[in-house]
Amino acid sequence: MPMTRVLLVEDEPAIAELVAINLRHAGFEVSIAADADTALAAVDRVLPDLVLLDWMLPGQSGLALAKGWRADPRTKVLPIIMLTARADETDKLAGLDGGADDYITKPFSPKELLARVRAVLRRKAPQALDEAVDVAGLVLDPATRRVTRVMDGRPFEAKVGPTEFRLLHFLMTHPERVHSRAQLLDRVWGDHVFIEERTVDVHIKRLREALTPLQCAHLVETVRGAGYRLAPRAMAPA
Ligand code: CA
Repeated sequence: MPMTRVLLVEDEPAIAELVAINLRHAGFEVSIAADADTALAAVDRVLPDLVLLDWMLPGQSGLALAKGWRADPRTKVLPIIMLTARADETDKLAGLDGGADDYITKPFSPKELLARVRAVLRRKAPQALDEAVDVAGLVLDPATRRVTRVMDGRPFEAKVGPTEFRLLHFLMTHPERVHSRAQLLDRVWGDHVFIEERTVDVHIKRLREALTPLQCAHLVETVRGAGYRLAPRAMAPA
């Protein structure tokens, strides 16, 4: 699995270094932008899984950056945590209004930072975390790259290709919701990747074939005219 990418936008080198060391130690891939222009260019190039955004930056403020990303369809759901020295309640509200998902006041402990990062990812981008997902007994574990289900008291494993694994991971972390082919291409294949939409159908077919031995192929539903969804309620008893 690709590592979770965090973009850290912070102009104070000592703080940036400290935060980056802690995140890297926890297994995240971290890139640092010291100002708004560098941050904009970085997000334009590769969409990160989460942005840690300092409020006070040279040039455009962190708040203005957050507002701009929220207004762009490509970055609308980008998880953002604001970092700031301002403990003032009105600023905190402005930050959350401006589109931040959470807010951390400096100074903060590395432990608190990691807890907040994981909480926001769990809420907004669970597919970016390495945690095992269980949907009605079908278990996908990103750490071991296994897809398993216990049937008649015995564990069975599905043989799932890398693309189908990412596709299933995304669908399992966003169950019930209908995803269009374009959305799946964006979220699973990666943004800025130009692939025909019918490629999605090919991989959905392969995914269903891979899930057939676990009697779970029917979980991946086609929603006519709309796309695909994972429907846990349709699970047959093991
Ligand atoms: Ca600053």
